[in-house]
Amino acid sequence: MQMKGLFNNGHTTFSIEIFPPKKPGTIEDVYTTLDGLSNINPSFISCTYGAGGNSGDATTIDICSIIKEKYGILPIAHLTCVGNTKETIDEAIRKLDEASITNVLALRGDISERAGLSEDFKHASDLIVYLKEKAPQLNISAACYPEVHPDSESVVSDILYMKQKEECGAEHFMSQLFFDNEDFYSFWEKTQIAGIKSPIEAGIMPVTSKAGILRMVSMCGASIPKKLSRILNKYENNPQAFSDACIAYAIDQISDLVANDVDGIHLYSMNKPEAAQRIYNAVKNLL
Ligand code: FAD
Repeated sequence: MQMKGLFNNGHTTFSIEIFPPKKPGTIEDVYTTLDGLSNINPSFISCTYGAGGNSGDATTIDICSIIKEKYGILPIAHLTCVGNTKETIDEAIRKLDEASITNVLALRGDISERAGLSEDFKHASDLIVYLKEKAPQLNISAACYPEVHPDSESVVSDILYMKQKEECGAEHFMSQLFFDNEDFYSFWEKTQIAGIKSPIEAGIMPVTSKAGILRMVSMCGASIPKKLSRILNKYENNPQAFSDACIAYAIDQISDLVANDVDGIHLYSMNKPEAAQRIYNAVKNLL
């Protein structure tokens, strides 16, 4: 199914991201996560790709296959430049085809000690061009950054490269997480000025641990507003209050985004279905 068909129907799309199990022998965790999400009925579930290879016993494509076959939900398989060559991408295309998976999120990937820049694909746009040529049946999504990607030369160049990804064939964008909706609105306006027409989903992450979110924002460049910072500090030693306050924060963000008619909400579930379910229950009548 083409991503475009999910948008522009008077509703805000609600989608979810999960990640593959990190340790071998923990495939059951995927079923637990997906069982826990099964009352949500999202427009699609995307599954991340661990640059440098997943160390668990199911790959991104295997999990997308489970999402599709066992749960009847549209999957999106993440695929990165990092850790891949033309040959390994050809193999991924073959596997996607075999599993009848037609939606892919094309990314550069996070560069780490384990996985450096790909010789064949430097940027997501290179991967999009290759996928469009080798597998025209695929519907391609791409990432975007309300607070600007940390490697960017400028806000303007980041938006222009986003537009380049659209021109190369990306038909849908999912945003990096952000905690201040004004950052998203300002970014959204810039994409419209740049003539980007594809739907853009707003990436929302319910915070589940103070240390975890501080590590995450230090890598992805998102900022933590004072309002959220006060919650992290006040409730860090009270797990129930911490969870309740962070879920309330995410619900507040989503309510405001939906009221402003964003194309979609992409919830980073962190494989924590209880939090995702609570958030969905609170916003489902708004969507
Ligand atoms: P690009 O689009 O290549 O952009 C990277 C930087 O280069 C930006 O600063 C951009 O402005 C610049 N740029 C882009 N094109 C060009 C060009 N042609 N010439 C010069 N500069 C250019 N990482 C994973 O490893 N696995 C995942 O599953 C994963 N899922 C993600 C899902 C979402 C929704 C998001 C937002 C991110 C995800 N990431 C994932 C992280 C992502 O891989 C990193 O943010 C990465 O650093 C950039 O990826 P990109 O596809 O946006 O790269």
